[in-house]
Formats: sequence, structure tokens, C-alpha cells
Amino acid sequence: MTQQPSIFDLSGAGGPSAVADRPADGTQPRIVIRRSARRRRTLSARREGDAILVMVPAGMDPQVERRQVNALVEKVLRREARDRHPDGPIELTARARRLAARYIEPLVGSELGLTEVRWVSNQKHRWASCTPATGEIRMSDMMLGFPSWVVDHVLIHELCHLVHANHGPEFKMLAMAHPRAEEADGFLAGWSWANGRQSDGDSSLDDDLGKE
Ligand SMILES: [Zn+2]
Repeated sequence: MTQQPSIFDLSGAGGPSAVADRPADGTQPRIVIRRSARRRRTLSARREGDAILVMVPAGMDPQVERRQVNALVEKVLRREARDRHPDGPIELTARARRLAARYIEPLVGSELGLTEVRWVSNQKHRWASCTPATGEIRMSDMMLGFPSWVVDHVLIHELCHLVHANHGPEFKMLAMAHPRAEEADGFLAGWSWANGRQSDGDSSLDDDLGKE
């Protein structure tokens, strides 16, 4: 293997400065860019103390680099905001367990195989999804800020998929266990309509919400 002159070349290749310009409003973290000759195509970013460290392949077009760095930093900040939210993944999972114990497990007579619930930002066409094989539930972060009874209803729907994979009659009976289930369905349909997403009234929470 050839020895690279430097793996992380902060000043190298006459590129732009290592610290990207950000609005100086005090809320933005410091951004440190490290250019690596070994890195080929992809950028990556992580939090390091008060800074966000972005690893960048050396020799990128400065404008492209700046755009991609900014996008990645935004992603890190969004993830941090989600984790700081009172409904972060730990609390969200605990909340789902409480709902399962209260509404579903007594009817089913056994514990659900729930492992983790977390918010995701890459689900813009479905409210939520469930992977029964792993016991994971993903909740679209479009619902951050929705009333808790609406989120609870969506959680219960996904928890029921740990029992029934389909939307058959048995599933429906279980999934409507929450006292405000119908109201919550109405809220979600109203939100979809107001935001220009089609809803035919029969579609389910984890079916496609229609085009954006
Ligand atoms: Zn479903």
C-alpha cells in the first residue's frame, strides 16, 4: 500500500478554508472540514464537542463540497434535535411499551416482541412502519409536535403489526383499542388533506400517503 502524504489534509490542495461560513447567530455549531485523499466519494459527519466534523474527499469542486457539507450538517443537527426531543428514541420506546401493556398485550395474552421505536426523517409518504421480524417501529418525524393521542394511535397501529402482519378484521379490532382511535384517524386524514396529500379514507397509516 502506498503511504499517503496526509490522511486528513486541513490545508491541502489549495481548497477553501477548513471552517465553513455559517450564519453567526450563535445557534450554529462550528464546522470543521477535513479533506482526505483516501476518501473517494462519500462525505461523512459527526459531532465532536462543540463542533461538527465533516470528512470530505480531497479535490471536490468547492461549490459542490459546500452544498454537500451544509446538507450533511443540517442532517446531523436534525438528528440531534430529534434525540433531544422529549419523545426521543428511549422515551418513545418506553411509551410504546406502556401502550402495548395497557391496550394490546391483555387482549393478545402475550408480550409483543417490540425492540425499538424511533423517529425517522426519510418517511414522507407513510406515517409509520413496522418490521415484525426485528420488532422495530419507525415513526415519520412529520408527526413531531402532533397531539400525543394521535401519536399513541399510530404507535398502537404499528404495535398491532407485531401480532398481525395484515389489516384484516382481527387486526382492526386490536388497532382501534385506543379510546381516541377514530378521532386520531380523522386528525391524520385532515392533516394529509391540508398538506395536499391524497387520502381515500380507506388507506391505512402505513400505506402510501400519496404524492407530495
Ligand atoms: Zn398497518
